[in-house]
Amino acid sequence: MTRMTPLLERNEEFARAYTPTALGLPAAQVLVLTCLDHRVDPAIVLGLRLGDAPVIRNTGGRVTQAVVDDVAYLAFLAEQLSAGVAIVHHTQCGTGFLADPAFRRQAAEATGLSEAALEATAVADPHETVRADVERLLAAPQLSPKVSVSGHVYDVATGRVTTILDARYPAAAASRLSPGPTDRRCWSPGSRSACPGSCRAAGGSPCRSWSPW
Ligand SMILES: [Zn+2]
Repeated sequence: MTRMTPLLERNEEFARAYTPTALGLPAAQVLVLTCLDHRVDPAIVLGLRLGDAPVIRNTGGRVTQAVVDDVAYLAFLAEQLSAGVAIVHHTQCGTGFLADPAFRRQAAEATGLSEAALEATAVADPHETVRADVERLLAAPQLSPKVSVSGHVYDVATGRVTTILDARYPAAAASRLSPGPTDRRCWSPGSRSACPGSCRAAGGSPCRSWSPW
């Protein structure tokens, strides 16, 4: 008997009535980014079913470089999809403690993480941080111009999700799509090699966005 035993029993029950979902585009055409808090499971809060939506969860549901990379890769996989990213921050987030310098210092000493990194994950006011993270993701050079971003707050006390910022596409999308001078670089998943300006013709990954890296 381990801590996993009751969960594996639940899985047995699940598997008995299971119907496999074919690999394909997510039905909801939305990627959810939210906190890893056990009270904030998007499958339950948003009624997601298998095959509905990819979900990224981290501390606070913050837009980190790792999140930007994942979103870029998922957008590449679903190229024909006009996908949206829904960032959902929540009230009573445990990361709120990290806004307190003394707690942050203690946490940094205990974990070896830098105080700056810990501070960056803090969600003291989810209305404020979700706005900041929508802007951060929209400003990321790797973000496909076909991907929109919206911001929401989940209230742990009421179970209600409120939209704080409606879905918006990156403002600089048009300029990033235009091929630039040859000293610009091409974004393709896993590499940022210099772009010859004719990736598709050369048999490589097609250019998806341009940015002056
Ligand atoms: Zn949280």
